[in-house]
Amino acid sequence: MTDDKVIEFFPNTQKEDEKRIIELKELIKRHDKAYYIEAQPTITDREYDELFKELQKLEIKYPQLITEDSPTQRVGGDSLKEFERIAHVKAMLSLSNTYSEVEVRDFDRRVSEALPGEDVKYVAELKYDGVALSLKYKHGKLDSAVTRGDGFAGDNITENVKTIKSIPLSIGDLKIEGKEIKNFEVRGEVYLTEQDFLRINELREEAGEKIYANPRNLTAGTLKLLDPKQVAQRPLKFVCYYFDSSEINPVSHHENIKIIKQLGFPIGESIELCNNLDDVFSFIDLWEKQRNTLPFQIDGIVLKVDSIKQQEILGTVARSPRWAIAYKYEAENAQTLLNGITLQVGRTGIITPVAELEPVFLAGSTISRATLHNADYISERDIRIGDTVVIEKGGEVIPKVTKVVLEKRLPNAIEFKFPELCPCDLKSPISRLEGEVSYLCTHPECPWQIRRRIEHFASRNGMNIEGLGEKVVEQFVELGYLKNVADIYSLHQHREEIKELDRWGEKSTDNLLEAIEKSKDTSFHRVLFSLGIRFIGEGSAKILAKQFKVLDKLKSATIEELNSVYEIGDKMAESVFQFFRNDKELEIVERLRDAGVNFQLKEEELVAKDMTLSGKTFVLTGELSSMSRGEAKSKIESLGGKVTGTVSKNTSYVVVGDSPGSKYDKALKLGVQILNEEQFLETINK
Ligand SMILES: [Zn+2]
Repeated sequence: MTDDKVIEFFPNTQKEDEKRIIELKELIKRHDKAYYIEAQPTITDREYDELFKELQKLEIKYPQLITEDSPTQRVGGDSLKEFERIAHVKAMLSLSNTYSEVEVRDFDRRVSEALPGEDVKYVAELKYDGVALSLKYKHGKLDSAVTRGDGFAGDNITENVKTIKSIPLSIGDLKIEGKEIKNFEVRGEVYLTEQDFLRINELREEAGEKIYANPRNLTAGTLKLLDPKQVAQRPLKFVCYYFDSSEINPVSHHENIKIIKQLGFPIGESIELCNNLDDVFSFIDLWEKQRNTLPFQIDGIVLKVDSIKQQEILGTVARSPRWAIAYKYEAENAQTLLNGITLQVGRTGIITPVAELEPVFLAGSTISRATLHNADYISERDIRIGDTVVIEKGGEVIPKVTKVVLEKRLPNAIEFKFPELCPCDLKSPISRLEGEVSYLCTHPECPWQIRRRIEHFASRNGMNIEGLGEKVVEQFVELGYLKNVADIYSLHQHREEIKELDRWGEKSTDNLLEAIEKSKDTSFHRVLFSLGIRFIGEGSAKILAKQFKVLDKLKSATIEELNSVYEIGDKMAESVFQFFRNDKELEIVERLRDAGVNFQLKEEELVAKDMTLSGKTFVLTGELSSMSRGEAKSKIESLGGKVTGTVSKNTSYVVVGDSPGSKYDKALKLGVQILNEEQFLETINK
């Protein structure tokens, strides 16, 4: 029986699918909101993926049912050649900046003078350091997303913006004063958290790609990518601070914020209605102290006159509104002398230049070193040894050299030439891979790389071997005890010698050996991460462990198999594949395994993560003798399967107990596989 005929026999199948598509879209939207806007996910990532995949499948079957606001349409459309220019209905003005209390008082005075006798309230908000964006909704659906551009017209980046999950593609029914809100404009800021920024930069650096100076640059660069699929891979976020609609007459800015929130847009972390300047200053002071605790960067606060009517009276002057102002915090930076540039060799051989600075106090700590990333970073900024440089540090971001103070350059400042030899004792020649910005030492016995690899292996996020830190690794490598990570598990052979070393004794030696012994039993994904396979971070190590479960399966995986794993990209797949085809690496892995290091998912992880029924849909009918229907349902779901109420040709199995209903007949007609109780038990106990 062919599929077409099935549909002829059961014309309601498509209806059911249509209903399910609508249901799935609603579900996914609700979960997106819970996750991205309320930050309170109600289902696991896996469950979310399942819903998403189910919707994708149905939409492939019925392409005519794909709507523009379907969550599947966020994954990115076709690449563009260039962006279209779109004019703003109301200009996107930039705020004038102030840096002192005096200037804020001046602003307040000007406002009061223009509004004689009126009571003025302000709204204070955090000024997210991102990229401004205007979103227009028509008939409740996202119609266009345009950058600020020159303030009067910007780039149409709608396709890219659709990939930002905190931006609703369509909005639900919202009535204000009896009127439905369907056509409106909102504005806000697209940004990246510091953590995401660091993670992306780290990956780029490892891959030899250009790194970005700060989260804002990375956000701007991402929004201008011509391929929406690439944009979809970056976790951009949105915060909304402006609402305008001809459908209602807004009264105040803080009422608008409420509407924005009701419409389903994320609003700022902290928004305060201030009755007077004292309130304003305490808001400014509070966030100046606490801004480093935020997961994203702010560069100040924004102060707006609350009343829309007052805003209109105040109007604009020279491309800035007169009713709003930005109070900018001092960028946390300092100037100091660049005494020299040293080189650091990473565990994959990448050589990173490091700025050796005249120690300077910045944002709570003394800084004497900062990364210079790569040779291009230095030459593009024309950083010379002996220069006075500006270093910056924001929140958790590692201090970095941002620029040279050219006015202070001395005639004897020396241009930095990247050396041709690795700083390691082997003085091995270094090379630059084509298309990459980093230089590498490719010598397989480079002692610097060996040290870094061992340090990485023993680190807290790796095998977590307490007592095997940087200094100890250096010492043991020098003494010849450690030539690779597998040697760690032979260290007990040197017990007597170690005991006699400086700063070592019987107790500390035994503590170390015990910690090493204990590490053997760690989880598979930690072991994978610890091996230091290029491009494999903690997250991807977890995915690989979950997917392949045991070492041998991972070892023998083809590039295609690796690549087909969700979230494992081309570079990762290639890197894992090559790692397990390298004799030296294989030998180390085998020695680790012989030593007793755990190379498989543990029992408890297996039980919890067994997803053998993933993607399978069950329908239960009739009574089972060994368990209730509820028990059967939860058993199936615990194995990743799904239970639905109606039989369709997408049903994988119909489980038939005693006195089955009409579902049994339908299964027979559709040719769906039928399981009796015994067969069902076999399936779930496999
Ligand atoms: Zn080297």
